[in-house]
Amino acid sequence: PSTGAPLLRVQAVTVRFGGIVALDAVSFSVEAGQICGLIGPNGAGKSTVFNCLSRIYDCGAGSIEFDGRRISTLPRHRMAGEGIGRTFQNLALFGSMSVRENLLVGCHGRQPAGFVGALLRLPGERRTEREAQARADELLRFLALEDCAERIVADLPFGTQKRVELGRALCGRPRLLLLDEPACGLNHEELEGLAALIREIRDRLGVTVLLVEHHMGLVMAISDQVVVLNFGRKIAEGPPAAVRQHPEVIQAYLGG
Ligand code: ADP
Ligand code: MG
Repeated sequence: PSTGAPLLRVQAVTVRFGGIVALDAVSFSVEAGQICGLIGPNGAGKSTVFNCLSRIYDCGAGSIEFDGRRISTLPRHRMAGEGIGRTFQNLALFGSMSVRENLLVGCHGRQPAGFVGALLRLPGERRTEREAQARADELLRFLALEDCAERIVADLPFGTQKRVELGRALCGRPRLLLLDEPACGLNHEELEGLAALIREIRDRLGVTVLLVEHHMGLVMAISDQVVVLNFGRKIAEGPPAAVRQHPEVIQAYLGG
């Protein structure tokens, strides 16, 4: 925990898949409290950045520091407690479970079957169980999901399911939240709700946000900083107004 240093520092990260260079010496930093947009045409390497950050992929070269600690060499199973939460491009919820159960899975980091027998366990585990319940309740309120807490996730509108996924990513009280195309499939009204919600996640929960998103309106409206990738290279970064006018960015989107 060092003051002044960025919360996240990605330094010269290179990732190859066979002959494809998915990321080519990509560097950028995210300050604590920022909403940072990560954009670029399809195949630019955005999801690969997220997969490196959550240690699903190894970065072949370069390093990633989170809160002053190098995380790019940590084994994946050690990432759970590191304070980085994420959502996936395709929903990764348990459709046959209720909203509350999905949140509890996130708060426990294990299946609900494991805590049905909680009463038989040690007092410490019961405390953990109570804390998980309390955290789930807190998030149900924060996300305005109280009315559908006991509903089965698969029966809910898509936009609501996406809020559940956000909730699950927040269960572990991450300091950095990685959102992979959260606006995908949302209607106009849901989109406005999402913009407000991401701001609240930053403002009220104090979570720093790295946002991969195709919906330019959303990215430009809520990001403090935008990083642009194209063919695995960073081609621009800066405040939304500057990035939007950057010739290489315009070229990448028109040419793509
Ligand atoms: P984006 O999310 O910006 O659309 P990705 O990060 O998914 O882009 O992909 C970047 C490049 O890396 C693409 O050319 C993609 O085909 C390739 N790629 C990503 N993941 C893999 C993988 N697991 N195996 C092989 N190629 C991959
Ligand atoms: Mg992607």
